[in-house]
Amino acid sequence: MGLRTGDQYVDGLRNRKHVEIYVLGKQVDDVTTHPFLRPSVKAFKATFDAAFEEDTKELARAYSPFINEEVNRFVHIHRGPEDLVAKVKLLRRLSHKVGACFQRCVGWDALNTLFIITTRISEVEGRRTYLERFLNYLKYVQRNDLALAGAMTDVKGVRTLRPSEQPNLDSYVHVAEERSDGIIVRGAKANITGIAVVDEVIVMPTRAMTEKDADYAISFAIPLDSPGVKVVVGRQVNDARRLEDGEIDGLPYFFNHEGMLILEDVFVPWDRVFLYKDWAWAGQLVEVFSSFHRQGYAGCKAGLGDVVIGAAYNLAKQIGVADKAHVQDKLTEMVFLNETMYSAGLAASWEGRKVVSSGDGGWWVNPMYANVTKQLVTRFPYEIARLAHDIAGGIIGTAPSEADLRNPSLKGLLEKYLQGVQEYSAEERLRMLRLLENISLSVAYLIESVHGAGSPEAQRISMRRLYDLQIAEAISKRLAGLKVKIQWGKSIEPHRPSDIEK
Ligand code: SF4
Repeated sequence: MGLRTGDQYVDGLRNRKHVEIYVLGKQVDDVTTHPFLRPSVKAFKATFDAAFEEDTKELARAYSPFINEEVNRFVHIHRGPEDLVAKVKLLRRLSHKVGACFQRCVGWDALNTLFIITTRISEVEGRRTYLERFLNYLKYVQRNDLALAGAMTDVKGVRTLRPSEQPNLDSYVHVAEERSDGIIVRGAKANITGIAVVDEVIVMPTRAMTEKDADYAISFAIPLDSPGVKVVVGRQVNDARRLEDGEIDGLPYFFNHEGMLILEDVFVPWDRVFLYKDWAWAGQLVEVFSSFHRQGYAGCKAGLGDVVIGAAYNLAKQIGVADKAHVQDKLTEMVFLNETMYSAGLAASWEGRKVVSSGDGGWWVNPMYANVTKQLVTRFPYEIARLAHDIAGGIIGTAPSEADLRNPSLKGLLEKYLQGVQEYSAEERLRMLRLLENISLSVAYLIESVHGAGSPEAQRISMRRLYDLQIAEAISKRLAGLKVKIQWGKSIEPHRPSDIEK
């Protein structure tokens, strides 16, 4: 089948059979027309359309040696640093077009992670079954250009207890029964991006495991409409606006969603199981996946930052303060913060490395710079948003509604009192204010920036592991004239190899 258009993706969603999705307590018949989820479908659809639009076509397509065809980059296995860079650039451009999270990168990162992990298991332990199963699945995904979600975060129960120690043994997704033809799985995954609008979901463990947790060390793929799957879509700030009509307040553009994925005794055939009770590999899988997704944030969050910066600049022009020194200074600070996140992601990509010995693919990001990227992303969007609100003025939180502007008895008055510089109309100001409000306070720009791909402490733990303080100390001791034996390694940076590189 090959590359699908956005419309083909949307049609495909209508063909799902058993899928059980809930929004605000009610089951959804058709996600493509439901006002709460339609903006998410539009955002996801943009990843398919990108493969056909002139400005993104080259970036959004890649050659797959696995099926000898061009595929959408969102199902591509990275074959070098150029591919990793292309990912970050594509995400920045898509943020410009969508103004929200487009949700498809998690499944893409899951594909690349499983490629690396199943290949490594085959290379290190000589067990090829997982790799063979995964390659078959990968070809199926690429040939059908499927929309994938990646599900990693378990609901976790009591955070201080391991999966096997939990009072609720379903707090982490686990195997409940082993059969000759496959396994039965049970549990729930939380905060799953785009989960209601995908064809399939790849499930992965969320943490390193011990032998006692072996039942929880599993990874597999299922169609979203497998019997026993339920999705409960989460609420977001201002989400009821999606239920409004209108061109300004009714969120006419795009939005993302997250949801809880509940697996109630779901059957998974063996050919879709990519890790089974292999507890010793769970930690490496999490490390590889999280670094991939932390790198990606450089692109999508910098792209949203461009939208916020552009909106703040336009609003400053609308009230005649764009050339004031303090406004220019704030805009410059926003640019600096935004480009810093992006630069770190590009460094993580250009400094990528191949972590498997054989075959095509197996390229991974530089884990230190991927973690640095995400740590910056946990902070900088908040500061960029704060500066944008400062420039926009208090009206960012108090602007009248679109309905007021359309009310004949108020229209003239609001046009008179909302206008600043004469060349801009009141409606232009209201449109830009609403855009800035919706994006700069969105889950995609703020909450996801803190907690997506792991909360801030997770990156700090990784950075502590990866940075070699002893080498840094030896460098200093030598320069201070203290006694020290120093061995200059090939690596210029005082970094330790990550687990997957050992
Ligand atoms: Fe992609 Fe960014 Fe959304 Fe993650 S947060 S799925 S990287 S757009």
